[in-house]
Amino acid sequence: MDVGMAIDLSERKTELLDKVKAILPEGGNLDLCLTCGCCVSGCPASGLEGLDPRKFLRMAVLGLDDEILSTPWVWMCTICSRCVYACPMKIDIPKLVYEVRAMWPRDKRPTGIRRSCDFHVKTGGAMGISKEDWIFVINDVLEEFRQEPGWEDLQAPIDKEGAYYCLNQNSREPVTEPEEMVPLWRILHIVGADWTYPSEMWGGENYCMFLADDKNWEYTVRTLAKKVDDLGCKVLVNTECGHSFHAMYAGLKKFNIPHRFEFKSIIELYAKWIREGKLKVNADWNKDGLKFTVQDPCKLVRQSLGDPIAEDLRFVIKKCVGEENFVDMYPNKSDNYCCGGGSGALQAPYSEERRRYGRTKFNQIMETGADIVITPCENCLSQILDLCEKYGGKYKTVHLWTVICLSLGILSEKERAYIGNIGL
Ligand code: SF4
Ligand code: SF4
Ligand code: SF4
Repeated sequence: MDVGMAIDLSERKTELLDKVKAILPEGGNLDLCLTCGCCVSGCPASGLEGLDPRKFLRMAVLGLDDEILSTPWVWMCTICSRCVYACPMKIDIPKLVYEVRAMWPRDKRPTGIRRSCDFHVKTGGAMGISKEDWIFVINDVLEEFRQEPGWEDLQAPIDKEGAYYCLNQNSREPVTEPEEMVPLWRILHIVGADWTYPSEMWGGENYCMFLADDKNWEYTVRTLAKKVDDLGCKVLVNTECGHSFHAMYAGLKKFNIPHRFEFKSIIELYAKWIREGKLKVNADWNKDGLKFTVQDPCKLVRQSLGDPIAEDLRFVIKKCVGEENFVDMYPNKSDNYCCGGGSGALQAPYSEERRRYGRTKFNQIMETGADIVITPCENCLSQILDLCEKYGGKYKTVHLWTVICLSLGILSEKERAYIGNIGL
């Protein structure tokens, strides 16, 4: 699309204009858009396809529906809400992007995102492994790690009725890196948590939300909610992933799904267990003064729990690596930039644009001088690793559970895929 062309308003449409009106704050009108550009300056997708959030909004207002519906920019914007956060009028442009995604014929939406959603509906996880294989992998890995002295009682139950916590697990782990589940199991073991995985809808991801497929987003959230209640669990715990947290958090509200459990992020629990003295982490291992920074997953922080969860995240990290060894990115917490891997971008066919988007994040990381980036989100982890490779960074990228186990001195050889020989 040539966005510099003269605009012909004779065929002005109103479908998107109506949607734009719906995203204005109560009592607002479009004259309230100050065209100030605050949304543009904080948007890492600005410039891709010649578009940015302000232009996108103006095009909708001008009735350029055909142009808007044909640009792939809606799959490059990561629906991260940085623009709304910065907008003085709180105009919800990502909501408009979501609506436009939903207007694409389903079979024309990116195949990778569509396939992951379909797998999730069918099998309970985006990688498409069957329930039998999920159960097999868990038991197989458990048996292997129970051979280690002192870990004979390690647990990883599935469908344990009445367990206090029910946990999801990003399906990349059982499929491609099963040993990455073990640090989490070790932490749960040490604190004596009574927990279980569900056998259904266990995948800690939700590409149906990214596909803007409300019907299947609702189905996946509703099915998991019922499963957790049927098991009698008191708390559903989302493990380290921003988008799966938001899919559940926003899905329960959007679809008005009744449930009896509380919904928490594992990060809240890590912080609680450290405060209670159940997780005796310390920074003594970091004798070389390795520097750490953290990626605030925007789906968890800005779009769900806000700065309190970002503070918990920093509390945990500082306890594990030493306060003096933590360097924040700027901006951070609710103001942070998305890494560019979100809302299905890693599954969409626009890799070059995804990396251009991610350049903002890469620069932010490099400015901290950190040796290690902690990314409590599967999407962020994959994207930040990819950016390091693409732009020639030297940093390592790790899950938070790896750092916790490192600081407890219980990380085994097999769980060091992302951290190498650090701390040995
Ligand atoms: S930040 Fe808000 S008010 Fe400013 S240009 Fe963007 S949408 Fe308009
Ligand atoms: S949601 Fe994020 S990527 Fe999309 S327009 Fe807003 S700031 Fe840019
Ligand atoms: S990939 Fe990470 S930073 Fe980007 S939108 Fe998702 S949670 Fe936020």
